[in-house]
Amino acid sequence: MTKELKLYINGEWVDSSNPETQDILNPANQEVIAKAPKATKEETEEAIKAAKAAFESGVWAGRTPQERAKVLLQIADKMEENLEELADLETMNNGKTKREALSDAEESVNTFRYYAALLNNPNGVTYEAAEDIQTMIVKEPMGVAGLIVPWNFPLLMSVWKIAPALATGNSIVLKPAEITPMTAVKVFELIDESDLPKGVANLLMGSGSVVGQTIAESHDVDVVSFTGSTGVGRGIMQAATGNLKKVNLELGGKSPNIIFEDADLETAVDYALFGIFMGSGQVCSSGSRVLVQDSIYDEFVEKYVARAKDIKVGPGNAEGSQMGAIVSGKHMESILEYIKIGKEEGANLALGGSRIERNGMEKGFFIEPTVFTNVSSDMRIVREEIFGPVVAIQRFKDEEEAIRVANDTEFGLAGAVFSKDHNKAMRVIKKVRAGITWVNAYHLTNVQAPWGGYKTSGIGRSISTNALEEYQETKQININMDPKPIQFFD
Ligand code: NAD
Repeated sequence: MTKELKLYINGEWVDSSNPETQDILNPANQEVIAKAPKATKEETEEAIKAAKAAFESGVWAGRTPQERAKVLLQIADKMEENLEELADLETMNNGKTKREALSDAEESVNTFRYYAALLNNPNGVTYEAAEDIQTMIVKEPMGVAGLIVPWNFPLLMSVWKIAPALATGNSIVLKPAEITPMTAVKVFELIDESDLPKGVANLLMGSGSVVGQTIAESHDVDVVSFTGSTGVGRGIMQAATGNLKKVNLELGGKSPNIIFEDADLETAVDYALFGIFMGSGQVCSSGSRVLVQDSIYDEFVEKYVARAKDIKVGPGNAEGSQMGAIVSGKHMESILEYIKIGKEEGANLALGGSRIERNGMEKGFFIEPTVFTNVSSDMRIVREEIFGPVVAIQRFKDEEEAIRVANDTEFGLAGAVFSKDHNKAMRVIKKVRAGITWVNAYHLTNVQAPWGGYKTSGIGRSISTNALEEYQETKQININMDPKPIQFFD
């Protein structure tokens, strides 16, 4: 039976008054797995109002950090007990492989535990500012946090926002992407079983233009944290001007992965595959531009194509699948269009380029691992975020050219360098204008490290201790320990 999803407002599961629903599909076979409500503007406002009332009542913000930590740990434990189900739901709804979904679910549990642990740390500083004047810098919750999430990591991106926002005492309104609400619904079912007071966490489903826009515009939302495309991010920032709410944006990328001639070739090839084909390339930090030094270009391409050819594409829940489905038919068409553009632009299609419709993938949205070589920086397949299993392998002569080509992009999310010469690797990575970088690795990251981009890849940082600041106000309290008239006007 198709599951009918509900909105979660003020601690209750409720139907939307809008009779229109969104079919939630399994992209591996187009089966309808659920029907999601499309919340109205009024329902969105109602959820924001519930979050605001909960905040102002102090039921959550007023609890001690230790009490809040206890609830975060409860949610983490419940998620851990339901790890398999969370991973299965993610695979079913997003198309990613079960091993990728399990890793996201484990990292989601870690994220809640990490923020619970941080709550045991002292918060703020105090110092002697002048004789008999003690200054305290204290951190306070912002109020209502609007959390808007994309479809590529529906669970992990939700948790990257929910955990720090709740840890810092805010109330939240979360909006998953229209087509991937399943794991967010499950997380809210677990939140509902926890001791989080009613109204503190609210879940809306619906369109970006109604629900997302209302959250971004609302004068009752104090901070909006958005992960998604750069285009929508710009709109969020504009919508946020009404009450000048704080804005945190995690946006797109077109990240360079630079391979020098003195790199360990096997390792570089291996990570360059992982860098783009993990998540079928639907990863914001994907290494979608591989920059290879002239002298090893042909050898690299030969080895790379041979390995990419062997990647086992298949339904995410099938035994042995290494690369799953594309999230939707619409997105698959957009990727195939970019492949067509690449060919028209004169790039050499060294591998793949087509939809796969065989071996159990007939009804799903699958694309072959696709490799373009002999590309140049002016091509659209090199400049624009394709967000699929499509890599462009470029040449460079020397260190100076590698840095110039790597930075020749509007984005600045991620980047990597492969070389056995550590001094060179450090020189180059320091010059790559991006927020998430690696030396002799790709994609490895952890919740302790701030996540975010330079340039049009975003504003602010997710996770780590930095994310606490995204959801906090900072106040100075100056204490006069020897009160007597200041006599300024004497
Ligand atoms: P998207 O921008 O289309 O949608 C993201 C979310 O914004 C969805 O929930 C959508 O409903 C909502 N939205 C759409 N229009 C809106 C509006 N006018 N007002 C408010 N909300 C609106 O992105 P997507 O296609 O879901 O995700 C892919 C993009 O996300 C890629 O560009 C990718 O690089 C980026 N991304 C970035 C990071 C990061 O950490 N930097 C992580 C994951 C994904």
